[in-house]
Amino acid sequence: MRIGNLSDRLVLVTDQGAIDVEKSSAGRFGADPQAVYERWPEFREWAATARTDDAAPFGLDELGPPAPRPAQVFAVGANYRSHADEGGLATPEWPMVFAKYVSSFTGPVGEIELPTGAVDWEVELVAVIGRLARSVPAQQAWNHVAGLTIGQDLSERDLQLRGDFPQMSLGKSLPGFSPTGPFLVTPDSFGNPDDLAISCTLDGETVQAARTRDLTFSVPQLVAELSAWLPLLPGDVVFTGTPAGVGLARKPPRFLRPGDELVSEIEGIGSMRHTFRSDATDESRARDADRAARRLQRLAHHR
Ligand code: ZN
Repeated sequence: MRIGNLSDRLVLVTDQGAIDVEKSSAGRFGADPQAVYERWPEFREWAATARTDDAAPFGLDELGPPAPRPAQVFAVGANYRSHADEGGLATPEWPMVFAKYVSSFTGPVGEIELPTGAVDWEVELVAVIGRLARSVPAQQAWNHVAGLTIGQDLSERDLQLRGDFPQMSLGKSLPGFSPTGPFLVTPDSFGNPDDLAISCTLDGETVQAARTRDLTFSVPQLVAELSAWLPLLPGDVVFTGTPAGVGLARKPPRFLRPGDELVSEIEGIGSMRHTFRSDATDESRARDADRAARRLQRLAHHR
């Protein structure tokens, strides 16, 4: 099953189009795409029997984030060995967890403003929690996941690497830095939800391509680890980490420029498409990019 956030209304998505949940359920479920996760098991049951013959076509640019206002947003760093290697980091023994703030959320298609600095791409598998999780063992964790979607963990590297301690949460939460979508796909819809092709292209060039089976900590392991420390709430969002191929690790580094088109794709979910605009001059962007690269070198030196 797939659901979406179509112009701020919860919809079921079929190959024919979208079905408005509030109308189709005669008001049993409301229009708010975030509220449905509070009643996820009940919603799944209803959705399995819902009429789907009146689906209406829609444009992907009308979609918002499938979980637009989560109470908590977790992100995990260095969660593919390939990406840890390219950043000069050891494979972590425990998940490296930080927060992304919800004011950075945006939809799966559109134009994103580049602030000053060096903005990088990170395609990620994103899990949305569908049932309160407290001390849930990994073997039972999928039962607590409503579904999977695509995310970009856009990162302003100059800010992220400022000072002696990384500013992960801030540098990855500027406005527009957390697009998700296009749909939330339930785990049972995949042959194997733990092994999906994930990739992104920049102006048609494939810059990241991997499989989610290469995650150091899988979705079930992340649910187990996080829920051992704190409750995961229905509708919470977990960005699971990015594979190798980010711009900071390229020689020379490459950051997003106005007019670039970034397409992010995960098998069985679909794709997101973003373009970028900026008021900063080429000169100031080049200076910020240099500084970000120097900061990375300095951090690597300290390890
Ligand atoms: Zn990330």
